[in-house]
Amino acid sequence: MIAVSSCLLGEDCRYSGNNNYDRRITELLEDEEVISICPEVLGGLSTPRPPAEIQGGDGKGVLEGIARVIDKEGNDVTVSFIEGARESLALIKEHGCSLAILKAKSPSCGSRVIYDGSFSGNKKAGVGVTTALLQKEGIEVFNEEEIDRIITKL
Ligand code: SF4
Repeated sequence: MIAVSSCLLGEDCRYSGNNNYDRRITELLEDEEVISICPEVLGGLSTPRPPAEIQGGDGKGVLEGIARVIDKEGNDVTVSFIEGARESLALIKEHGCSLAILKAKSPSCGSRVIYDGSFSGNKKAGVGVTTALLQKEGIEVFNEEEIDRIITKL
């Protein structure tokens, strides 16, 4: 069983109200059992919602209490992001997933780089909040730009 970001599967759960449908991912997983997860929706946030970025670190820092998730209107949404990460982990454990394919660059789902917290489009090395929690629990996280690496795991 593989956990996949809902927006990659075509669900309109992005902050902007649309999706990040990725045909290569859906074709690659055609014969696999998948569960769809959107940490931000699981954390109780509405769609659409203001975009959010991590300030003061990355998802690991958020879990350690040294970084915060702030939306573009200045609201601190850290608690919702942590709740979404916990709910995602619970679902992933319930379904016995050892692998997750999550949307690149997201403050929840990113696994290599994320936006740097300045809402200017700049990025920094780091992981999203859900990715940080999953990795801490030994679950491998890839993003949709790592097709070759994903293939070796299927
Ligand atoms: Fe939801 Fe993650 Fe997609 Fe954002 S990137 S919409 S949190 S699944």
